[in-house]
Amino acid sequence: MNQCSKSVRGRCFCGAVQFVLTFPTDMCGHCHCESCRRAHGAAFVTWTEVPKTQFQFLSGEDRLKRYNSGSTVHWGFCANCGASFLYENEDAPGRVWVTMASLTGPLDRVPDSHVSFEEHVDWFKVNDGLPRYKEKSEIEIDSF
Ligand SMILES: [Zn+2]
Ligand SMILES: [Zn+2]
Repeated sequence: MNQCSKSVRGRCFCGAVQFVLTFPTDMCGHCHCESCRRAHGAAFVTWTEVPKTQFQFLSGEDRLKRYNSGSTVHWGFCANCGASFLYENEDAPGRVWVTMASLTGPLDRVPDSHVSFEEHVDWFKVNDGLPRYKEKSEIEIDSF
């Protein structure tokens, strides 16, 4: 980790959408829920979260599309390359989640947990010793 940095940049696959996150972030963890897995075509998605006041587009905001999987849930992706890297939920106004994989430099923290672990796929073995939580609670799931 780079303790000197006050921010980190990120971008989509093609680079049309560029943004910057200002530290401190509020969390970083791996989400195993089915929505994250299907939205990203991945076994799990690693997210960080900041207040929207700490998220800024540098370019390409007009290329960002949002898929609404529910009345309050918005998944942001680049209309040009399809890379999915933002999550917003009107039930958590003023917050934005950003995928760690879209960042171009070090974050101010490392992933510290697995959430929605009850939905994890059985074809990827998690063996990193981090706590595994039920949904977004602090109830730990022992093992599967
Ligand atoms: Zn793109
Ligand atoms: Zn999820």
